[in-house]
Amino acid sequence: AMYDTGWGRVVLKLSGEAFAGDEQLGISPDVVRYVADAIAEAVAKGIQVAVVIGGGNMLRGAQMSEGGMERGRADYMGMLGTVINCLALQDFLERLGVDTRVQTAIHMSQVAEAYIPRRAIRHLEKGRVVIFGGGLGAPFFSTDTAAAQRALEIGAQAVLKGTQVDGVYDADPRKDAGAKKFDRLDYNEVLTRGLKVMDATAVSLCMDNGLPIVVFDLMGQGNIVRAVKGEKIGTIVCP
Ligand code: UDP
Repeated sequence: AMYDTGWGRVVLKLSGEAFAGDEQLGISPDVVRYVADAIAEAVAKGIQVAVVIGGGNMLRGAQMSEGGMERGRADYMGMLGTVINCLALQDFLERLGVDTRVQTAIHMSQVAEAYIPRRAIRHLEKGRVVIFGGGLGAPFFSTDTAAAQRALEIGAQAVLKGTQVDGVYDADPRKDAGAKKFDRLDYNEVLTRGLKVMDATAVSLCMDNGLPIVVFDLMGQGNIVRAVKGEKIGTIVCP
């Protein structure tokens, strides 16, 4: 299988929540610096890295709509929030000397390129990190689904989901001491057991296209480089 020989091109999915560090909201420069350092290291090894960042540290559409907002509008606010995270990561990467491009699903030509898949591929081939902002540009989707879709469209071999836990468990490891971690899962098991990997839309898209998902602890020392290189880490969901 591909994942035995390492990846050549990957999509790294970072949750917005992680960007907030110890806070609930906003951006922790320490976290962004840590992530940027690791991405720079991975890129230096010749691996093509695209990034999708969530917006949970800014705003979640579903939550706002519970508060009475129209869901579509709230989701657009969420998508705009992801772009703020993208610009933060871009800044830290560029200061490390890594060339980057931000491409957004919603046009905002002063701060980012439009999402153009063939152009994204070209950037990656030149060793640039491409940061995809604005999710899919459509309400009722998540940035997890965007990560899967972008990975498929640009021909990445895996989606690497950096989270706060070190893999997928059969129960919440923070609440249940007996929770068991999976090394490997198939998509159907994730869906039928409702395991917390990605939302069902994202998982089924990966399933239909045989795209592997790796779930790993984002902040563990050396983990990002390990995941990007295709080393065994966290939990892999694959065919
Ligand atoms: N969002 C959306 N469409 C997309 C991607 C994101 O409407 O294609 C909105 C949605 O409101 C979501 C918010 O943007 O709650 C932030 O994204 P997400 O929840 O995926 O961020 P994460 O959980 O990864 O931090």
